Order: sequence, then C-alpha cells, then structure tokens
Amino acid sequence: MNSTRNEQPRQRQDAPGQPAATPRRTWRGGIAGTVVLLALALTTGLTRAAETRIQLDGQLNDWAGVDRHADPVGDDLHGHHDLAAVAVHHDPSWLYLLVELDRGNGDFYGNSNRVEQVVVYLDTDHDAATGFRVGPEGREIGAEFALVSSRRVSTRTSSEGTLYRGGDPWYGNSRAAEEAVLVGNVSGNRGLPRVEQQEAIHAFETGVPLDAIGLAAGGRLAIAVRAGRSGTGAQADWLDRPLSVAVPPPVHLGTLRWRSPTLEYRLSAPDEGMGLVGLRHIGLDRAFLRVPDRADAARLWSIALTANPADPAAQISVSNTTPAEHREARAEDGLWTLTWQGVALPDQSTIDVVVRCRPGAATGGLDDWRIEVTYHSTTFGILQTCFPTLELGVIGDSGEDDTIILAPAEGRSLRNPIAWGLDKAGPQINTDITTDNVAIETPPGQVDFGGFGAARPHGLPYPGGRGQMQLAAYYEKTGDAYYPDVRPGAGLYLATHDDALYPKLIFCTPQSRRGALLFEIAHHPDDSARPGLAHRPPYPVVLGGFTGDWYDATQLYRQWAVTARWSRPGPLAGREDVPTWLKEMTAMIRADVRKADQETVLPLLAPMREALAGTLGIQWYFWSAWEKRPDTTGYAFPARPEGPPGFEAIVAGLQAQKMAVFPYMNTRLWNDGEGDEVTPWLMRRQSGETFHEGHAAHPCVQTAFWQDYLTRACRELTQRYAPMGIYLDQGAEAQFGGHPNWQGCHHPDHGHPRGVTRDMVQAEYDRVERIYRAAREARPDVVLCGEGNAECFNDIVSNKLIHYEIWPGAVPLFAAVYHDYVTAYGRTALLVAKDPSDPIPAMRIGWQLAMGNQIGRVWTGAIGAQHADKPHYAEHLDYLRRATVVRQRFPAFLCVGRMLRPPFVDGALPTITTNEFLRLDHRVTLPAAVGSTWQAADGSLGVLWTNMSRQTVELVFWIDPALAPGKALERAYDDGGMAADTALGPQVRRIALPPLGIAFYTLR
Ligand SMILES: [Zn+2]
Repeated sequence: MNSTRNEQPRQRQDAPGQPAATPRRTWRGGIAGTVVLLALALTTGLTRAAETRIQLDGQLNDWAGVDRHADPVGDDLHGHHDLAAVAVHHDPSWLYLLVELDRGNGDFYGNSNRVEQVVVYLDTDHDAATGFRVGPEGREIGAEFALVSSRRVSTRTSSEGTLYRGGDPWYGNSRAAEEAVLVGNVSGNRGLPRVEQQEAIHAFETGVPLDAIGLAAGGRLAIAVRAGRSGTGAQADWLDRPLSVAVPPPVHLGTLRWRSPTLEYRLSAPDEGMGLVGLRHIGLDRAFLRVPDRADAARLWSIALTANPADPAAQISVSNTTPAEHREARAEDGLWTLTWQGVALPDQSTIDVVVRCRPGAATGGLDDWRIEVTYHSTTFGILQTCFPTLELGVIGDSGEDDTIILAPAEGRSLRNPIAWGLDKAGPQINTDITTDNVAIETPPGQVDFGGFGAARPHGLPYPGGRGQMQLAAYYEKTGDAYYPDVRPGAGLYLATHDDALYPKLIFCTPQSRRGALLFEIAHHPDDSARPGLAHRPPYPVVLGGFTGDWYDATQLYRQWAVTARWSRPGPLAGREDVPTWLKEMTAMIRADVRKADQETVLPLLAPMREALAGTLGIQWYFWSAWEKRPDTTGYAFPARPEGPPGFEAIVAGLQAQKMAVFPYMNTRLWNDGEGDEVTPWLMRRQSGETFHEGHAAHPCVQTAFWQDYLTRACRELTQRYAPMGIYLDQGAEAQFGGHPNWQGCHHPDHGHPRGVTRDMVQAEYDRVERIYRAAREARPDVVLCGEGNAECFNDIVSNKLIHYEIWPGAVPLFAAVYHDYVTAYGRTALLVAKDPSDPIPAMRIGWQLAMGNQIGRVWTGAIGAQHADKPHYAEHLDYLRRATVVRQRFPAFLCVGRMLRPPFVDGALPTITTNEFLRLDHRVTLPAAVGSTWQAADGSLGVLWTNMSRQTVELVFWIDPALAPGKALERAYDDGGMAADTALGPQVRRIALPPLGIAFYTLR
C-alpha cells in the first residue's frame, strides 16, 4: 500500500469521561502539542438544515443553524490556541468548516511575530491505515489532505486556505513536510477564510471543493482539527474528537439526461418531480444552473392559483414537486414529454400539466419548450403559470465574469448577478436592472404600483417600457460589457417567441446567500383566475446554448423577431409609409415653456436650429390651451387637442424650418374632477378600488369610451395643427406588474376578461392603431412616438423616447435587434454639467451617436448665448453639432442601418466616469471611446468611432472578419483632428481619436 505513514507516539489514553483539561502529553519528534484525549469518535451526519447556505465571505451568521461540535474550553496548555467548536456543512460541491476559538482570559494572539494556524486534516477514504497519521492520541486518522489556514500575528493578515496532499509542511516534522504536495489555494473566489476579530470568539470559515479532495459519493470522511503555532515547539489544541462525516450521494444527476443540439438537460426522476438539476452548454462544457441540494426540490414550473382574486393572501402555488397521481417522462424521436397527472390542489381537485420540448426546433436551432395546464377545479383559477423556473448558478469557476441581460428599457446588463444582493442593501438591489429607482416597497397603507424591479414580486412586464422584448440571456464574458471578447464564452439563451401579444412577466430574483439567481417567465391565461380554464400558451419558451455575448443573443432573437407580425412592414429603409424626414432626423428637442406664452419658445429654438444639422424633432410639453390656463396645474389629463390661439401658425413656421413638432398627448390618465362621464370606465383593481396614479385615475384601455376619446383627440389635434408627429405618453405598452396592486382591470361591468390578459395587450395595440389611422386621415405622413415602446408596436409607432441614454454596463439590446425597424432618441442632452469637470454632456452625446440614436433630448434653452461663458459649453455644442452632421451625412448607416457587432478592440480602453447620472448611485463608467458597426440596406458596411473624453484615445480596432471578407476600411469622415490613423491590415486600424473626435469608416 502506497501510504504515507508518519511515526506517531503511542501513549496512554485517558479514560473516557475524564476532564479534558487534565493530562497533557508532548508528542515525540519535536511536535509540541497538547493532546486532548478523546472519548469516542463522534459519528455525525453533515448538518443539512434545509435553508443553510454557506458563503465563504467572513460573515458567519449563515452558520446559525449548523450544529457545533464543541471542544472543551481551557484544555490547551498555554491558553493560546484553544479550540472551542467546529461545525461542518456541505453542499453538492463544497465542504465547509467553521472553526471557533476561545481566547480565555488572555490575549489570544499575543504580540509576537508568529504564525497561528488551524489545520483541518481530511481522511477522505475514512481509513486510518492510509494517509498521514495525525490526530489526538489514540484516535488518529489517516489524513489524505491537510487544509491549512494561517495568520501572521504581527501584521494581522490572514492567508487563504492552502491545501496539501500527503502531509503538512507546517507540522514540524520533516517527514510530514517532505511528503506534503501543494495542491493549491482552494478558497479561490469563494472568499478568504479569515479570522474574525470578535469580542469573545475568534472564528473563521474555510472550505474545499469536494472534487479537489476526490471525495466519493456516498462515502465518509474523518476530520481532525488542530489549532496551534506552526513549527517545532508550538503549542496546539486538537479537537478532542475527530469527526466522522457522511457524504450523501450527490443529487441524482443522471436520471433523465437529454441532449439537444446546444444543451444537455438533466432532470430528476419522475418520483422526484422531474425538476431541472442540470443545464449544460454542450460545446463549451459549461453548467448554468446551481446544483440543487436535493433532486426532489429541483424546479421546472410553478403555477399560482387563487380562489379569490381580490385577496392576495388566498393565493396558493403548486409546482412540479407537488404530489401527483402519476408522473412520467418520455423521449421519442424529436419530442420529449413530461407529464404530471393529477397534481393535487387543496380543494381535492387536480390539474394536469404536460411539458413538451422539440429540441432544436425553434428559430436558430434552439429548443422549443411548451407547457399545457389542464384544469379540473371549479374553485381555483390560474393567475400565472411560471415556466421555466431556473436556479441559475455561477458559470464556470467565478461569478465575476458572469453577465445577465434583460430587456427593461432598451437593454440592461448586470455583471455577477448572483452577488447582486450582497453589495447593496434594501430596495436598491432590484433597481440596477430596471428603468428607474422608484422604491420597491410600498409604505404600509398606501396603495401604489408597488415599485419597479426585476425581482419578485414585481418582475419585468412585457410588453412595456420595462419589458420591451422577450429576450434574456446569461453568459460568461470577461472584459468590457459592450465590446466583444476575442475568446467568446458560453451563453444560455432565454426567451419566448410570441407575436400574438400575450403578456408575460420575467422575474429575476437574486438569492445571493444561496448562490443562485432565480429566473422565471410567468405566463398569463386568457381570463385571469377564472376557475376551470385550461392554460396553453400558444408560443414557445426558447432555450438554447450559444457562444458569445449580448450581441450574439440579440442576433438569435432577431432571426425570429424580423418574422414577427410587427416586423411585416419591413425595415425602415424600404418603408414608404414612414417619411424620410423621420428616418433621417438628427436630434430631438424637448420644448417646454410651461405657462408662458407659446411664442416665447421661438427665441429658444432659433439658436438650436442654427447650430444643428438636419431635421430636428420638437417634443412639445405644456402646449395645450388647458395647460396654459391660470386655474390649472400639471398636464392635461385627459389629453386635449386644443392649443392656444396662434399655435397653428407656430407649428407651421417651425415645420417649415425642418423642425417636426410632436405635441405631448397623454394616453393613460384622467385628472380627478375633470368630468364624471369617465367614472364608469375607470380601471378597478382586484380589490375593487379605482386605479389611481397621484391625482389622476386610469380609464380602462379595454373600453370603447377611452379608445374613442383618444382617437378623437388625436384626429382633432392633427386636423387643427397638422403636426408631423404625436408624442403618446404612457402609450404603446401594457401597464401591469407582479405586484398584487397592479394586475390589470377587474371592473365587473366592462365586459372584458379580468386581469392581466392578452385582451389587455390587444386593446392597447388596437387603440394605438386607431389613433394612428385617425391621425393619418388628417395628415397622411404623421408619425407616432412613444416612451420606451415595446417591440410589438414597431409597425405603427416608428419613433421612441428611450429611457436613459447611458447606464452602467450599457448594451444596446433593442437597437441590435430593431435599429433598422424603429427610430429612437435619448432622454437628456445638456451641454453644461453641474460640476464643470464632469464628462456627462459628452458621454450622452457620444454614446447616443454611437448607438444610432437621434441625439436627444436637447433641453429647452440648452443652446444660446446665455451659456457662452460656461466651462466646456462651446466644445460640447460643437460636439453635438458634429454629431448631427455625421448623422446627416451617413443616414443609411446611423439612422436606418442594421446594428452589427461592435468593433473588436485590442486590450482595454481607458474609461470615463460621470458622477451626475440621475439614477442608482449617480455613477456611470463607460469606455472613453465608443465604436459601432453598421450595415446599410444595400449591404454596405460602416464603422463609427467617437471619443467622449477630453484626452486623445489611441486604440487598435478591427471588425468581425466574417462581415466583409476581402474589403478594406477606408476613412470617410473625420473632424480633421485625427492624430494618427494607420492600417495594420485591410480591416485593422490603429487610430488616435482627438478629444470629442468623431470618425466614420466605410468598407470598400
Ligand atoms: Zn376594464
């Protein structure tokens, strides 16, 4: 037997039960140590408290439910290294230990420059006859591994856990040192095991991956723990009883193992519920899920049901693990079927659930999953069917390079989303990935929307500003969020492909302590919570593995999206119903003079017209006669089509100067006290209360009254003033959320199905379409603009206000799918920062230019002689002017072109940070230079570069070689300030972009 056997002294063992503090023996061979003699080896199972999830982060409260194995206090000879207790825990992949030390009356660490150690010896074959023989006398184990945590007293620095095989170099025995083989630092990114300075207890946590110590499933290991000084003569305290620990078999991973072209799915057995226990990228061998603790707790779907929609507390939930009469799984050629028959409901009735997958059958060769719920209850109705429910885990060995993308606003990416909840407290944790930082919690007693957030209970509602597409993805990527990585990582595509306007909620809930991110797609039945209705969403949930990043995910989605109903009119470049002036609009101005006379806007717009190139949009707030009245406050709710005298001439005058007027018309609200005729048509919540937002109520979009009102108002507006556009605030989206207060209209007399339904979304589409047609009767080329319009309005709403032009981790998901289908402009463009040194004006202009936006919104009064002396005003104005010039010069690319993969850049670019962002912690950091790649309708390619900083940025870039084989980059535009531009190859350039410089390349 090839084992390491260290000679150990044999000494008399104390009788069981003897006070542990009495006899101390010094070991032979120079190993000084106090040996606490043990009674019997304690046989223990690992603590498996259901909710215990250990994170190696130095925070020890996650050990609260784990049993301690106590060691007598005061049993070390010198009172310096007194073990108090050890706790052991494991999950499917790691073994964790908590070590608590007692410092007694003295200063535990003293003042010397010595190294304190705690060594955990692991006998992984549970055979004392093999391995390095260590432990309390008479109870030695045969350790295969030593996990050493050291701490240098003088500097109070702690080391990471270091794993040795075959010995322990610090043991103070030459043989033990000779045999020790360094396996490595095992704590990795799981946190530094460290000794925490606490009042009475010094404690630390450490851990080791099970596969690093070759632990066999279903086996046992023995653990001995020694605290002491390293080297000869050190005092030590052994845990008096080596622990014998059972390692249960890992989660049953292989029961159902199905492979599609891109993913390997592992599901638990039918008797365990057929939950998803593994999901693996086949090509790159990367797992996307957190390994569940138990196979019979693994998730796949859940259904929220209620017997009383008005009472959120009456809601119940069943899932794939709920007891059922019969479950079975079948895999036939090209079709996988999972059946749950007779899933028990509390009223003794049942539902049946069938999940089917046609692997590889969805667009892009991805997997087409469907769920069907058949219903046998007359008591409970379905509120939501959640499918899939995935517990996303760390991809590969670190969460630092994991990214989730979701489509609130025009797209958000979030790095290390599993740790999302750890570094922020309170409601903020949910706001990174939504559109706003409205508080998540509703104050008690206050009826409100309940806040925004991707996490439960709110979720990202589709279709809406906070859910503009049905796309999400989770992938591994290093480096900058926006630019591509030359070594693309593994990605999981998560989407639905539905063009029939069904509402959905995507929940993305961080469970950081568990090491998981819960991803769920909730589907809504045709009549929310009506008992007896089956629920068969007629569209696929599409899962698939891909290689790459956000851009690759958007292009998979685009393959389907351009076939969807709303894409039928085709790309903008070929659309005759969309006027050229809109396609080539360069910038959007936000006009707003509040109560002042309408004419007072003209001297504010004149310098803008003079400074900027191309057609400008004028998004006009507070223009109506109602809003100008001295006895009114706020906006005209409902929208009113009457302007003050002379408005018609003002509109005509501006439009003659290529300033397209978009009057503001709200589509959602009706002020209290503005007429009783609306009362029967107001939305009601589940509770029966009228749906209010501040001092205005929501008329129901599903009623003819409200559709007729808005259609008439927009027709009259267009007839009277002939604006080139109409800005429909709060339109072109379905408004709902996961919060119980925000569940569609439940008015019993409106005649529509109640709650969040397809009917609700269809009604929204219908009313916007009616507005569009009515307005076009009056002016055939008028266009509609919405705020954060969702994709399904693209055919009738050709312009949109985007939420924020910059955002941490900005990735233009919507533009990468739809830039050639709908035009957009940003929220804010100002030329002077609050702090003159802050780069936000340039960041907003530059990022929008590179993303192919109409640059906006240039605020009323932002341009004019009154600013001339302000710092950087002139250079920002010039940057904005040049941005409009470049858009005017290359509209086939920047205005209506298809967005391609961004250029590759060599190495990391310098970054630029603003502290004046309006949301989150006010900070956004972006690459200082931003490049984008475009394809015109004729197939030709262009590359834009701009430098948003005040320093010259040198960089090397190239484009995806697959895009234009054989063609060469040629500079078609620059500001004249290019310090250097060297061709390193036909499609590779080294450039030096001057501060606020813009360059455009074409490929010939
Ligand atoms: Zn209604």
